[in-house]
Amino acid sequence: MNPETRAKYEVVIGLEVHAQMLTKTKAYSNDINEFGSQPNTNVSVITLGHPGTLPVMNKKTIENAIKLGLAVNANIAEDQYFARKNYFYPDLPKGYQITQDKTPICTGGEVLIKTADLQDKKIGLTRIHMEEDAGKSIHDVDVYDTLVDLNRAGVPLLEIVSEPDMRSSQEAYNYLLEIRKLVRYLEICDGNMEEGSLRCDANISVRLVGAREFGTKVEVKNMNSIRNVQRAIEFEINRQIEALENAETLSQETRSFDALKGITISMRSKEAANDYRYFPEPDLPPIKVTPAQIEAIKAEMPALPKDLLIKYTQKIGLSEYDANNIIETKEIALYFEDLIQHTSNYKMAANWIMGEIKSYLNQYGKEINEFPLKPIQIAKIIALIDEGLISNTIATQKIFPALLNAPESDPLQLAESLNVIQDKNEDALIGYIQKVIELNPNEVARYRAGEKQLIGFFMGQLMKVSQGKADPKASNALLRNELEK
Ligand code: ADP
Ligand code: MG
Repeated sequence: MNPETRAKYEVVIGLEVHAQMLTKTKAYSNDINEFGSQPNTNVSVITLGHPGTLPVMNKKTIENAIKLGLAVNANIAEDQYFARKNYFYPDLPKGYQITQDKTPICTGGEVLIKTADLQDKKIGLTRIHMEEDAGKSIHDVDVYDTLVDLNRAGVPLLEIVSEPDMRSSQEAYNYLLEIRKLVRYLEICDGNMEEGSLRCDANISVRLVGAREFGTKVEVKNMNSIRNVQRAIEFEINRQIEALENAETLSQETRSFDALKGITISMRSKEAANDYRYFPEPDLPPIKVTPAQIEAIKAEMPALPKDLLIKYTQKIGLSEYDANNIIETKEIALYFEDLIQHTSNYKMAANWIMGEIKSYLNQYGKEINEFPLKPIQIAKIIALIDEGLISNTIATQKIFPALLNAPESDPLQLAESLNVIQDKNEDALIGYIQKVIELNPNEVARYRAGEKQLIGFFMGQLMKVSQGKADPKASNALLRNELEK
């Protein structure tokens, strides 16, 4: 699309995210809530909605919803009412889902994201409510028939509905990253989009820049990664703008994303939308949430990414970039938290995580909880560098790999046995320096003729000759001295 046409339009996006909760059992029964069990094994008569069975509320689901609500500064309703959302579908054995229709547990609140030009932006939340998942129809296993797995039926969900506050696919992408980070920090959902434990429906419209009214929105479903949500939105933006430019009218509809082709396809129009005939769930009494209960949950809340960001940037002086890097996953942040119990060189601690440790994890495809070195070992390496006993280069190239081979050994002893403790001894240093001078007569002549910038070259040679053992601080003045002679 030509950039001038594109620039005439503003994009408006609101996202509806479904998060499967990490509870032991389902929302209204004792059936196990587990991904990957043998099909149709976690299915009791309650899940199947047999006559005479009664749902029993899993209190953990309320706790999880409150945790998320607190984390996004939402209002939390005192009374929880439940409703039935009725529709007929093969993967819905009861013929209805239990949900919270007009009375969501959380209203309002916001999620802080970065815009494309790295500014902070608040995305408002409309509501968060509890509901239950449907089963799963499987179309690609049997050649002739569709199969159904009801293990997922009754799995507790949180539906998180945003305000139409996003203005680009990048913002939608960043919003989903934040939501995923948040539910993972809270340990209420594993955030895995490929397995469907985090799902997103994207509502997209475009309007002329400066227009007051929103354009007609289209809802896109079936994206199984955050990247695909972004791709689907980009496709929709182009499709909608082209339609409007051709004087077509857009209709409110639901579309499906085809990841292979990178396009969206119409599924149903607004007119064909289901009428769910909501009514109050007669089998679940309303449940009260007391202020004391909320306080108790608040007291147990883990540190959240936004708290850690403030701590790392304002209290221990990391750059925002470094802090965000550490906070990206909870496990890394926990490792860092442990590490800074043992060292106060916070910047170097962050560098070790973002540098050596992350490259090790990348190289071996491991997670931080599989990393063989305890934080205190890294802190000991940092102390050796800080005390001038080893250089940074020796630490990363010799001590770190040696320690990985023997994770329990003492870094200082390793440094001694590898004979890499830096020399501060003046005689030894002068010995190295004289060797450097001997080996590089041309450079010495040039230095003495005024090319003082060669000092860097000599320092490098000194490290080479001393095999990294010359203490740079102690060497510097000596080196200059000898060269000036
Ligand atoms: P519906 O009644 O179709 O479910 P809602 O008003 O409940 O629509 O909104 C559903 C989602 O769509 C919300 O995330 C909301 O922010 C978003 N949304 C609403 N209107 C628009 C619009 N014109 N363009 C983009 N997103 C929108
Ligand atoms: Mg709606």
